[in-house]
Amino acid sequence: MHRSIPATLALVLSVAAVSAQQPSSTDRDAMLRGIDAKREKYAGVAKEIWGFAEVGFQELKSSALLQQQLKAAGFNVTAGVAGMPTAFVATFGSGKPVIGIVGEFDALPGLSQEAQTPNHHAIEDGTPGHGCGHNLLGTGSLAAAVAVKEWLAAGHPGTLRYYGTPAEEGGAGKVYMVREGLFKDVDAVVAWHPGDRNDASPATNLAVINAKFRFHGIAAHAAAAPQRGRSALDAVEAMDYMVNMMREHVPQETRIHYIITRGGAAPNIVPDFAESYYYARHPDMRVLDGIWDRIVDAAKGAALGTGTTMDFEIDGAAFNVLPNETLGRVMYSNLERVGGFTYTPAEIKFAEELRKTLTDPPDVQIGSQEKVQPMRLGAVGGASTDLADVSWNVPTVQVVAATFVPGVPAHSWQATACAGGTIGVKGMMVAAKTMALTTVDLFTDPALIQKAKA
Ligand SMILES: [Zn+2]
Repeated sequence: MHRSIPATLALVLSVAAVSAQQPSSTDRDAMLRGIDAKREKYAGVAKEIWGFAEVGFQELKSSALLQQQLKAAGFNVTAGVAGMPTAFVATFGSGKPVIGIVGEFDALPGLSQEAQTPNHHAIEDGTPGHGCGHNLLGTGSLAAAVAVKEWLAAGHPGTLRYYGTPAEEGGAGKVYMVREGLFKDVDAVVAWHPGDRNDASPATNLAVINAKFRFHGIAAHAAAAPQRGRSALDAVEAMDYMVNMMREHVPQETRIHYIITRGGAAPNIVPDFAESYYYARHPDMRVLDGIWDRIVDAAKGAALGTGTTMDFEIDGAAFNVLPNETLGRVMYSNLERVGGFTYTPAEIKFAEELRKTLTDPPDVQIGSQEKVQPMRLGAVGGASTDLADVSWNVPTVQVVAATFVPGVPAHSWQATACAGGTIGVKGMMVAAKTMALTTVDLFTDPALIQKAKA
């Protein structure tokens, strides 16, 4: 990856690109206008999914709504793929090339928040919310897919697929879909993610492994007979302590975080069951594997030392993204063509108020959503995605659009507030158009696919 191309070969490639059948700019303009014409409809779909706020693998209504939209647009939908009721593949067209567009639609626990409201106010305390904007993600991808489908239907060869991928947050639905072979014949995959800026830099990110560690002890009266008990909560705490000391002795880029999901029933009962939920991350899965073994050893040691037993269940894992510079450059030029967007006075007021609630916001200001971030190579994002496992099998390209007020981090109530409002929709439209243009490029330029695969 990132090998530079010799000048002579680059010349051959650029000549090939010119001679390939290129969509006329009127084609493209018509496609962009088509997306704009359906703006209110897509805003409605995104808002409905935002309202459903269904967490991973439980996205029954969200998945059904997207399937229904795709069927109505003329796609063939196969639902319940790879053993997951909410996973689906929608197909249009036939033959080569096969281009995939990826959609997500799961919410996050506990991030309920009223739309476009600049103070923390849950619709219902403790319930899920779209704090990663996946309501926009699934709908923006729908908008791109429908626009490209209309372009294909006008007489272009090839197969377009929309992948409805559940449980991006923790459940890694795409990993199961890749394992099922659903991406086997795909030539390239186009995706996006909501963010606080417009950016098409081909970035990698962090590989992740997550698991629940379960400790089993012996219950006893905590005052009358503590000597007869063996505390599962002690084991959880001992494990956490060891892992927290380990932080000093792992590579700097490592991220380890946990919550205690079960800590006992009452203080006067020695807990006979306790559970912690761990995520560990590193930019290289091979390094992470070794760190993970040490975390498991800490759990084993904690069980041994507290007289309890331990088992653990890995409930998700994903590689670090393999970025594709060739496709990244195409996505970037299309993002520049589409451009950013302005806020209305009401949106500016909301954005200013919302920014006051942020801790240590990064140096990205209101107004930056009007621009496109310059393309950077070699960037490493701080999060993880199951799209990474797709990227190691099929050339994959992503764009980030400014659906959140500049400075707003994902996985926050502030992000939920943006994802349910007009700013979210504006960012979603940027992504939809950029992805549609990029997908059409892939359909019309076989040399581009070859270069991306190389
Ligand atoms: Zn996300």
